[in-house]
Amino acid sequence: MAHKYVYLFDEGNAGMRNLLGGKGANLAEMTGLGLPVPYGFTITTEACTRYYDDGKMISDEIVHQIYSALATVESAVGKKFGSVENPYLVSVRSGARASMPGMMDTILNLGLNDDTVLAMARLTNNERFAFDSYRRFIQMFSDVVMGVEKAKFDKILDAAKKAHGCEKDTDLTADDLKEIVSAYKALYLAQKGEAFPQNPHVQLIEAVKAVFRSWDNPRAIVYRRMNDIPYSWGTAVNVQSMVFGNMGDDSGTGVAFTRSPSTGEKSLFGEFLMNAQGEDVVAGIRTPSPISVLADTNPEVYAQFVRIADILEKHYRDMQDMEFTIEKGKLYMLQTRNGKRTAAAALQVAVDLVSEGMITRQEAVAMIDPKSLDALLHPTFDAKALKEGKVIATGLPASPGAAAGRIYFDATEAMEAGERGEAVILARKETSPEDIEGMNIAKGILTSFGGMTSHAAVVARQLGTCCISGCKDINIDEASKLITILKSGETLTEGDWLSLDGSTGKVYEGAIKTVPAELSGNFATIMGWADAIRRLKVRTNADSPAQAATAVRFGAEGIGLCRTEHMFFDEDRIPAVREMIVAKNAEERAKALAKILPMQKEDFKGIYKAMGARPVTIRFLDPPLHEFLPHKDEEIADLAKTMGLSFEELKATVDGLKESNPMMGHRGCRLSVTYPEIAEMQTRAVIEAAAEVRAETGLDIIPEIMIPLVGEVKELKYVKDIVLATAKKVFVEKGLKFKFLVGTMIEIPRAALTADEIATEAEFFSFGTNDLTQMTFGFSRDDAGKFLSDYYAKKIFESDPFARVDQIGVGKLMQMAVKLGRETRPDLHLGICGEHGGDPSSVEFCHRIGLDYVSCSPYRVPIARLAAAQAVIKGSKAGK
Ligand code: PEP
Ligand code: MG
Repeated sequence: MAHKYVYLFDEGNAGMRNLLGGKGANLAEMTGLGLPVPYGFTITTEACTRYYDDGKMISDEIVHQIYSALATVESAVGKKFGSVENPYLVSVRSGARASMPGMMDTILNLGLNDDTVLAMARLTNNERFAFDSYRRFIQMFSDVVMGVEKAKFDKILDAAKKAHGCEKDTDLTADDLKEIVSAYKALYLAQKGEAFPQNPHVQLIEAVKAVFRSWDNPRAIVYRRMNDIPYSWGTAVNVQSMVFGNMGDDSGTGVAFTRSPSTGEKSLFGEFLMNAQGEDVVAGIRTPSPISVLADTNPEVYAQFVRIADILEKHYRDMQDMEFTIEKGKLYMLQTRNGKRTAAAALQVAVDLVSEGMITRQEAVAMIDPKSLDALLHPTFDAKALKEGKVIATGLPASPGAAAGRIYFDATEAMEAGERGEAVILARKETSPEDIEGMNIAKGILTSFGGMTSHAAVVARQLGTCCISGCKDINIDEASKLITILKSGETLTEGDWLSLDGSTGKVYEGAIKTVPAELSGNFATIMGWADAIRRLKVRTNADSPAQAATAVRFGAEGIGLCRTEHMFFDEDRIPAVREMIVAKNAEERAKALAKILPMQKEDFKGIYKAMGARPVTIRFLDPPLHEFLPHKDEEIADLAKTMGLSFEELKATVDGLKESNPMMGHRGCRLSVTYPEIAEMQTRAVIEAAAEVRAETGLDIIPEIMIPLVGEVKELKYVKDIVLATAKKVFVEKGLKFKFLVGTMIEIPRAALTADEIATEAEFFSFGTNDLTQMTFGFSRDDAGKFLSDYYAKKIFESDPFARVDQIGVGKLMQMAVKLGRETRPDLHLGICGEHGGDPSSVEFCHRIGLDYVSCSPYRVPIARLAAAQAVIKGSKAGK
């Protein structure tokens, strides 16, 4: 039998998500539940993959299956494509496995042409409706299928509205709309050099191809990379019988959630517009009414909708996001899916569903996106500062959180400012998928149009970015980069500061102080559940007592990496460090090190105290030397003066220390091999700090000393011997003794390959996957960003190997090191401290290969805790 590429809605179900996409699988499931779903069919994700495999062509086989499904649906609904007696119209919508903004979304009213529009007018006895639908179709089809800009059509529409003295689209008469249709067709002809396609079958196949093409557009590619969605998945296409929300005042369309996507509160939340089609709600052209108004205007439809919403939520055991249309008083369901929600709402819904007995704690932990927690960990406004703040406008509270930043009006410029380190507020009339990167980097998003389900609102909630939408108190003029506050006439321009409260919708003048996030309530509950499930411990990378304290608040169970060189960057310390680096002999070096020792000891004491009884791994000095060298002549002159050297003499030393490839240069343990005094000083600082804090607090501190950049066991042994001898000396001097550990990082491929030998000397390994990735790929950590974008564009890489462990290559080295290391030393303690330690998919990998802990930056600790629990859940599902 031929391969099946097309499924009717009554041939599928929710379990077929990979094949039918999320939308298609759920339409099939709702059909199966007997809900009022307009009939249709889904063209599978495999057809999309085949389209690309066939060189961007839809094969005859697939076209044939589409037409055959179409014929079945036509006869079921008693209508026919192109018929002037009973014309059949469809919507065409994309639907990947994971919901994906950035791709082509919807074409409505497909099947209309110069003849069928007249038939529709006659059959519905509503000429205005028929021509309104046709003008919408011409515009949408031309824009998304044929690439004729939407703005060109908008211009015609706006001019017509002006000419006829209409404020709203709905004020246009049938005759006005006929004129508009003619003008649209003329525009199409002028732009494309051919008439607007009249054959519905041609329209359909072109629309399907456009959906397939949109899978590979730049916005979809960016979105996929941000969300770890593989290119190979492809998208499905849903073809569904049209129902009409624009048939008059007894018709309408809307979207609703079974719970609030902002707070998670259990009550129906949504909005609708009467006499409108779907895109009017999302595009924010007219402002919709809250769903509760429907209870007054159409009580029966409302009651039915509430009933269906309840059925769907119970069926899917999760909060649902539904689209519906009312055609002449009859309700139709067009979509349901698990609703996107803010991080706070996600926690509220998960906790509530457990207490309602709908899901288990494990399911609650599994349903939260670890990365989304980030939004909860960031500051909110300081209550006092907020009271004094001046509210200059109020809009819709579309995505909670607090943000203060400088205004930018263009997504690209916002992105550039964000990359320069500026806090950015992106101000737009309304946002569109092209703005995704600017929205991603912005601290806050402000729009003057659009409702709670506009593009800005939906995407901001997903990104966890604060957003105020539909702010009618202001006018945003993107071209002249000006915000005008309508009441006062005051203006703000690019670079001015503004503060947004996404929870109240209030816009404040200037920059308002923020305070750290509150980590109790639902957050603590879910984290508690996750902690009970996970096996991996979660430590943090912290170099200061303040960072350590933050990480402990977020649940860190120790420090996995304290980068001692980061402690040297302070202005009052760097001269001593420079002295040490440029010292000509051991004596000079000892002098400089003697200055550093007390500072380093105080740092370690502070960290030990902040961490209490938790383990702390201190890594020995590992600076790429160039980061510390004085570069400017005046810096060299200053240092020369302190050191009693001539400028020329010091400059010559500095020049001599310059390396062509500092990242692979004289750093890590190589420094201690050359200058053993550094390891001596650091050992002394670690042991003395621990001794003093032990004496002061009674805590049983067991220092963990980590030797970096080891590639050969003899290097490690050389430095370790210095550590052991120095520690012994300190113990004798102080008349005490306590346990301490010496371990190493696995960050050079040779260390992984010889991990059995390395383990003879190391009591623990910590995978330094930043360097291990750099050296396995041979990509410089400092420069790879400059060309990796070409790798994404050409699909050589789908994700950044410096952010997500390359499980195939780097991961193989890690697995090898785990195995070899444990063969030598079965109780070898294993962790990871590269950036990957806070990336959910990498955490899962670390769980699978049997590490004992992951270590990540403080703000990612909760993400790692949740990801570690999810790794256990996934593992048990996979039968591991
Ligand atoms: C690493 O290489 O992964 C690591 C943690 O060390 P650093 O980033 O300091 O080189
Ligand atoms: Mg490293």
